[in-house]
Amino acid sequence: MTRASAPEQSGHHTGKPMLSLVVPVLNEADAIREFVRSVDAAIEAAWNGASDTPDLEIIFVDDGSSDPTATVVRALRKNDARIKLISLSRNFGKEAALSAGLHAASGDAAIPMDVDLQDPPDMLRPMVEAWKNGAKVVNARRADRSADSWFKRTSSRVFYRMMNLISDQPIADDVGDFRLLDRDALEVLNDMTEHTRFNKGLFSWIGFETATVEYVRPDRNVGQTKWKPLKLLSLAFDGITSSTTLPLRVWTLIGALIAIGAIGYAGWLIFYTLVHGADVPGYASLMVAILLLGGLNLISLGLIGEYLGRVAVQVRGRPLYIIASTEGL
Ligand code: UDP
Ligand code: MG
Repeated sequence: MTRASAPEQSGHHTGKPMLSLVVPVLNEADAIREFVRSVDAAIEAAWNGASDTPDLEIIFVDDGSSDPTATVVRALRKNDARIKLISLSRNFGKEAALSAGLHAASGDAAIPMDVDLQDPPDMLRPMVEAWKNGAKVVNARRADRSADSWFKRTSSRVFYRMMNLISDQPIADDVGDFRLLDRDALEVLNDMTEHTRFNKGLFSWIGFETATVEYVRPDRNVGQTKWKPLKLLSLAFDGITSSTTLPLRVWTLIGALIAIGAIGYAGWLIFYTLVHGADVPGYASLMVAILLLGGLNLISLGLIGEYLGRVAVQVRGRPLYIIASTEGL
């Protein structure tokens, strides 16, 4: 993982800033051309050839596609030096692919974008404006997510509610990976060595002056979502375990409460038996207590396992992603 060195800082980006669009792609051969076309059209429409029109670098990170995604990118590269390609050695998942692209970004600001135009290029202008006004991070918030499925919206709402209840550093609701990261913020992010990569959490955690612009999330233009419910669930677990240790502590509290109750009850039982003699019935209450405690034990053990597994991954220290080849970088 080599880090691109920071370009000459232009102070407060009054001139022509350079934007690195970082686009993870998995089996998106049908979407790539349209993405580049739309970005160019949006920039043309928004700046209309003005002298402060940003320069672009579009880094596609091929996350182990099995379709001609890389071929399409290569074909575009022939006539367009702004387009760059990082090919990962296999599918590492969107979070890792995004990290690979952010490490390689050389612009004054980097913007992670989905290739399916669900992160509308029309937002580039307002994001750049907010950046020029001093924000180091510009979040693009989905004001309307009716294009996402009911399942996706509900699960994500539940997740963010829960997450923000327990996490030390709140994560902006309804902000995906689509945001502008100034070089300063990007450097900090790129230096983070943590393995369980939950970018939305990291983006919030680093702080910096943050602005928010709003947009309506459109439907995917071609193809289908690459997320499967199980993968989303695993992302949710990554998010929780990588941002907070509160769930671990909850069990100490619950354990202490149960232990206090148990000691009290045991004292009462001993007293009762001494006074009234042994009393045989009680199968139901025994059974309930055993099942309840057994269940709680397993949950807390599983939770420790979730954290421990991630500690193990971190300790192994394998790279976050493996680059098979790069073109144009
Ligand atoms: N993606 C990726 N690796 C993966 C899954 C997705 O690089 O393992 C890319 C995908 O090609 C797209 C972006 O991540 O550019 C967002 O994926 P998608 O549109 O399927 O997710 P959704 O919008 O449904 O959350
Ligand atoms: Mg999408």
